[in-house]
Amino acid sequence: MVDQAWWYFIFEKAHEVGGTWRDNIYPGCSSDVPMAFFTLSTELRNWKESHGSQQDIYEYWVSLVKKYSLYDHIILNRKVTLAKWDDVAQEYDILTEDTVTGEQSRSTADILISAIGVLETPRLPTIPGLDGFKGEMFHSARWNPDVDLRGKRVGVVGNAASATQFVPCITEDPTVQVVQFCRTPNWLLPPIRKDYSLLRRRLFDLIPVLKRLLRWTVYFRFEMMYFGTFANGFIRNQLTKMATRYIKANAPEKYHDRLIPTFPLGCKRVIFDTNYLEALHRSNLKINYDGIATISDTGILTQKEEHIPLDVLILATGFAADVFPLSIYGKSKSIQQYFDEKKGPQAYLGTVFPGFPNFFTILGPNAGTGHTSVLFTNEVQINYILQVIQPILDNQISSVEVDVGATDAYNEELQSRLEKSVFAHCVSWYRFGGKGKITNAFPAAASVFWLWLRKPNWRHYNVVSPDRWLEKRLLRQRRQRFFWTLALGDVMVALRPPWRNSVLGWCIAFR
Ligand SMILES: Cc1cc2nc3c(=O)[nH]c(=O)nc-3n(C[C@H](O)[C@H](O)[C@H](O)COP(=O)(O)OP(=O)(O)OC[C@H]3O[C@@H](n4cnc5c(N)ncnc54)[C@H](O)[C@@H]3O)c2cc1C
Repeated sequence: MVDQAWWYFIFEKAHEVGGTWRDNIYPGCSSDVPMAFFTLSTELRNWKESHGSQQDIYEYWVSLVKKYSLYDHIILNRKVTLAKWDDVAQEYDILTEDTVTGEQSRSTADILISAIGVLETPRLPTIPGLDGFKGEMFHSARWNPDVDLRGKRVGVVGNAASATQFVPCITEDPTVQVVQFCRTPNWLLPPIRKDYSLLRRRLFDLIPVLKRLLRWTVYFRFEMMYFGTFANGFIRNQLTKMATRYIKANAPEKYHDRLIPTFPLGCKRVIFDTNYLEALHRSNLKINYDGIATISDTGILTQKEEHIPLDVLILATGFAADVFPLSIYGKSKSIQQYFDEKKGPQAYLGTVFPGFPNFFTILGPNAGTGHTSVLFTNEVQINYILQVIQPILDNQISSVEVDVGATDAYNEELQSRLEKSVFAHCVSWYRFGGKGKITNAFPAAASVFWLWLRKPNWRHYNVVSPDRWLEKRLLRQRRQRFFWTLALGDVMVALRPPWRNSVLGWCIAFR
């Protein structure tokens, strides 16, 4: 925990905490990672279902903010609009805006941490005529509960994770006529959600260690899934066959060709079915793959020149995950300018950027693994950041900045792995602009991410300190390395053995 002598504050642009789970209130919204693993490792709960609903997850986070009296540190309705590093004062100058009154304020901070999420800013499609639609229109992450869908003609654009959750819910009412406009299919695996029995919950209450055991089980299951879908072509092929069989057995035959992807399983985030395929049998749901030409004030004109009249348009078109929506300036440029220079987002260990002293980000480029709980990644990053900032909190150094060479070397290695990975075989939000560099996936198991971020490698950092702090720290690090197996890494770097590109070599290189 941060020393009490240090004051910290959190700017939140919305009226309440909760992020993803505050905003995504669409019907059927739930996690796709079991709750045993989609919670903080220090705050396990005895859940009533394997996967949490939006409401349950939202309440979980609000309860934690109350439990740790974090509201005392959170400034709600306060959006960070600009932050600039002042190299003389060794601090960030931060500009914020009250999202209710528009009033601007200035603050300063020695350390700045961005936790703005990655699936936060809705991505609106660039379809001609979108603004001219006269009916009700909203993005799935900004669901408008005041719009009554009963008896309406509803167009849904998109068929990925969010749409496959809410389409089965809204089509339960036969008076809601839905046309779903799809571009590319997604791999769907059989449902994994289940309710827990009262007996089981009692048992988990009586023997709390069961919660911990379940968490570890889920963790290892996801690691195995990584080896199955991402790392091993043979197992991936078996899973692909299983998913194909599942889609064929559950979806109407007329849609089979459309619903079975041609890209490999794992290239996009795999979706666990939530009755979507079953819902496709309903007469009030149609899927349309004709492509959208334009949007008129009364509906959608397809590329086959069919006009489909609509009362409501729901955009389930995902999030802008390849831009940095915060204006943060380091020594000479903004994060976005740095990304543009590098032809897409990049960071060192998904957490720090060269030229941006004392700035850290959670869920930065290539931090998420695409197959596990994002909260695991978040915790790993938080532990790492706490170690890097400790000397600043102890007043031993005034700033810390990652080295340009270390960042570039890390990213070259990452990208050479990613180019050969399953993520390179389709258009997805894991990639810059959908088709470019893979910037939102980590090319190894979550355990590797943990291993790399377990301890900072101070050789990859520069610091500003009154005495020779870094030299002393490096000496200590070298001594530790000598006594532990990590010395092997130096041998590997020096001798460049042929196995250096194996998983083992790779783990050691970035330890
Ligand atoms: C529908 C949905 C389901 C998901 N399910 C899963 C799942 O099952 N498993 C999984 O691992 N991941 C899942 N994710 C990914 C999910 O985003 C993360 O798991 C997690 O909730 C991210 O938390 P976060 O705090 O990093 O970001 P967020 O929850 O996005 O929170 C970011 C916060 O920053 C605030 N903010 C943004 N910009 C500013 C600014 N300029 N100034 C001040 N405040 C700002 C936002 O208002 C928000 O409150 C899901 C995402 C979505 C959209």
